Amino acid sequence: MPAAAAKTDAAVLQQFIAGRWIQGSGKREIVSVSPADSRVVVARARGADRADALKALAAAQAAFPAWRATPAPERGRLIAKAAALARGRKEELARLMTLEEGKIYPEALGEMDKGLALMEWFAGEGQRLGGVTRPSELPQNLLYTLRQPLGVVSVITPWNFPWAIPVWKLAPALVAGNCVVFKPASLVPALAAEIVKIFNEAGLPPGVLNLVIGAGSEIGDVLVEDERVKAVSFTGSNEVGRRVHTLAGARGIRVTCEMGGKNPAVVWGDADLELALAGVLKGAFGSTGQRCTATSRLILDERIADEFLARLLEEAAKITIGDGLKPGVGLGPAVDEGQMKTDLEHIAAAKAAGAKLLCGGNRPKDPALAHGWFVEPTVFDGVTPDMRLWREEVFGPVLAVTRVKTFDEAVRLANDTAFGLTCAFYTADLALAMRFTDAVETGMVHVNSPTIGGEASVPFGGVKGSGVGEREMAEEGVRFFTEQKTVFLDYTGARRSSNIY
Ligand code: NAD
Repeated sequence: MPAAAAKTDAAVLQQFIAGRWIQGSGKREIVSVSPADSRVVVARARGADRADALKALAAAQAAFPAWRATPAPERGRLIAKAAALARGRKEELARLMTLEEGKIYPEALGEMDKGLALMEWFAGEGQRLGGVTRPSELPQNLLYTLRQPLGVVSVITPWNFPWAIPVWKLAPALVAGNCVVFKPASLVPALAAEIVKIFNEAGLPPGVLNLVIGAGSEIGDVLVEDERVKAVSFTGSNEVGRRVHTLAGARGIRVTCEMGGKNPAVVWGDADLELALAGVLKGAFGSTGQRCTATSRLILDERIADEFLARLLEEAAKITIGDGLKPGVGLGPAVDEGQMKTDLEHIAAAKAAGAKLLCGGNRPKDPALAHGWFVEPTVFDGVTPDMRLWREEVFGPVLAVTRVKTFDEAVRLANDTAFGLTCAFYTADLALAMRFTDAVETGMVHVNSPTIGGEASVPFGGVKGSGVGEREMAEEGVRFFTEQKTVFLDYTGARRSSNIY
């Protein structure tokens, strides 16, 4: 691979602490490059160090009393304003996303829409934030609950949805009245800085939202362990998630960790095969397979397996690999060299384990793509549960296929994984779909639609190794960032003769 040649017009980014953009004090330079052409430098930043993270926490703590006292509907209107500002810049931000993360432009636009829908949903929570009233056992007594903010919260996000995941955490945290220290993945700092600029322009008071750009290993722990931090919302790998969960658990603070996936799609013999084909292609190769919800295992009813795979290979061969900003490109690059190498290592291991390579398996040969981190869409047949490709998340465009004879076998194999984020079941038989839905061990189930996606109004998240803590999005998303207070209001004005219970 030719050495990266830095371009000089890269954005220079800073940390955002207490309402001011300031240079990081860390030694490390954070450099974001285009994964489609690693010679193109998108942005540079002097990384934050521990002292910067502590300053950000102090700023958040100082801003909390006033932000907490701001009426929730007003906080919601501010989120709505940020959403409107982002909507006005949708195409520009989507282009930046493609440039920095690599997903193709239409997918970046889709991610923009998803994040905007989430912001609009959470803006409305400013009007709805509240508890319940219940009848008391006592006359002239009212029982009710309040939802109150927690204080300072840390939001730690991955690179693969650099717009939607930050906003689906930031919007509920802020509308609930918390002050945030936001640490994005260091591969996507430019988009993270734009997100913070948008919230700032919408009118967030200084200190309410702070940005620290830096390596997680240097500043991650302080964002979990500092006594000012009352909750951590994390999305990322299992390795880091487990550490965050353990450290937060040891302090007894609230924590949610959304982590990896190894999501199965089952195509049953009676399914609409063209519908299933479109869904499997999108699930396996969309966003270059770099989704926690990607379809990475395909379980085929033996009766249609050969026919389905023949069509899958035909369609995979038509996918144009390249720079996602170019029209007609269907598959972008891996996010960086490390991820590309991981994809290729998994491919080599699957070959060595005896899986049958049906297509792909290499970097593309086109010399025009030599400066990017591209991997061909890859399909392996004959993958067995003892193989690494069946068990481990690849996070690339690599699909593991196996065949089954019975429905029970399909369910058993779908559940034969340490993960449990999402799945898909393709069938024309509603009863079978319902039986699958009952039996499958995942947080989300798609019937006759791809494993990917989520909507603002319903909870998002997984079970088993895919997630711990409260679900995200919907009411759950905001509930995570609030504490409940139960109020016993006695309006008799009389001294109570006896306490109950
Ligand atoms: P990652 O775990 O490497 O990084 C995630 C974030 O954690 C980054 O901001 C990183 O800087 C930070 N971090 C690193 N070390 C830390 C530490 N010691 N303490 C605190 N923070 C630290 O993950 P990634 O490579 O950015 O993202 C890919 C992973 O994210 C995949 O496993 C994918 O499945 C998962 N993911 C899950 C979901 C979901 O909702 N379940 C969604 C998207 C991505």
